[in-house]
Amino acid sequence: MTDLHTADHARALDAADPLARFRDAFHMPRHEDGEATYFCGNSLGLQPKATREVLNAELDYWSELAVEGHFKGRLPWMDYHEAVRDGLAGVLGAEAGEVVAMNTLSVNIHLMMVSFYRPTPERHAIVIEAGAFPSDQHAVESQLRFHGYDPKTALIEVQPDLPGGNVSMASLERVLAEHGERVALVLWPGIQYRTGQAFDLAEVARLARTQGCAVGFDLAHAAGNLPLALHDSGADFAVWCNYKYLNGGPGAVGGAFVHARHATATLPRFAGWWGHEKATRFQMRPDFVPTPGAEGWQLSNPPILALAPLRASLALFAEAGMAALRTKSLALTGYLEQLIDARIADVLEIVTPRDTAQRGAQLSLRVRAGRDAGRALFDHLIARGIIGDWREPDVIRISPAPLYNRFADVQHLVSTVEAWRDTR
Ligand SMILES: *Cc1c(COP(=O)(O)O)cnc(C)c1O
Repeated sequence: MTDLHTADHARALDAADPLARFRDAFHMPRHEDGEATYFCGNSLGLQPKATREVLNAELDYWSELAVEGHFKGRLPWMDYHEAVRDGLAGVLGAEAGEVVAMNTLSVNIHLMMVSFYRPTPERHAIVIEAGAFPSDQHAVESQLRFHGYDPKTALIEVQPDLPGGNVSMASLERVLAEHGERVALVLWPGIQYRTGQAFDLAEVARLARTQGCAVGFDLAHAAGNLPLALHDSGADFAVWCNYKYLNGGPGAVGGAFVHARHATATLPRFAGWWGHEKATRFQMRPDFVPTPGAEGWQLSNPPILALAPLRASLALFAEAGMAALRTKSLALTGYLEQLIDARIADVLEIVTPRDTAQRGAQLSLRVRAGRDAGRALFDHLIARGIIGDWREPDVIRISPAPLYNRFADVQHLVSTVEAWRDTR
């Protein structure tokens, strides 16, 4: 083993890491007498220690102020969503008026499709990536059926054309060149959940818009993971969840982005009172006048207790900054790649692209020996408190999160896999 691969080297990298102190801002899950090694921020981010305090403050306002909490307190509930709005806009590279925290991701896909999937007999197809996350698949198929179209012909799935199940831009371009005229909407992931492949959002949007298609992004795995320039990408809309890299807590309120060019457009939408123009909302009139921007898509008054944790997390993102987080993320995931290649390449195949511009924190690792060995390895890791996640039939996803993972965690994972191999 060269120096690079030793636990000492990993510790030295941690000692030199300018973001190392952020780890202490999180609760580490427990394993036996110590801490687990957590690589599952792609699925559920860890709890910031400040969450409890932020949440308790709202419980206190509720007990002490009751309905007056809407107008009093440090942050009146009436304007509460604005407190997370600016933090989210920063993380996503959007204007404040373009983002809103509301509902959950799958609900937001539907709400956005009501406005941006406007099928006509000539142009009603939807383009997505093959093997999309089931909820996205269900959403687009049910929308197609709702409008009277058959997903068999109206859903165009772009097949992987690269090793590891990855998709080239050329492949998307070909599909759009062939079918573009009948495509109403391109719904594309920022990062594909299974492969970990990241896409050039501006390029996807350009290809779609060149063909006259609306374009939306699912940023479930990209938000809080990659620095994004969502406004500049030119997308019509985007949706994401806040419980993955954004550490907003299980089932956290999701997010939606509507590009500024639609801010005052009278797009068809499913409306609710919280989307009504703020100044006149409480006149309680029957006519609907949407608030400009993404907030005009809100239906209900926001769940304060579900939004509060997001404030604790977004404060950490604002403090660390997406650029610094990305710098560390590249080093951390690069270190994982390096160690896998050098020490356990016979056990695990990296299916996520090698090009760092095409990935975030996550590496998807195919277990070469197949499903049964893969499950055995995964269970072995879990039993030792090393938490990644399993995707059938043979993939382990490992996502070192730059806010709380250490180089030593990566080193520990690789050493554990190596030891497992050597005893088989
Ligand atoms: C995590 C994830 C979801 C989850 O949707 P919810 O509505 O938050 O349960 C949907 N789509 C993708 C691509 C995801 O990664």
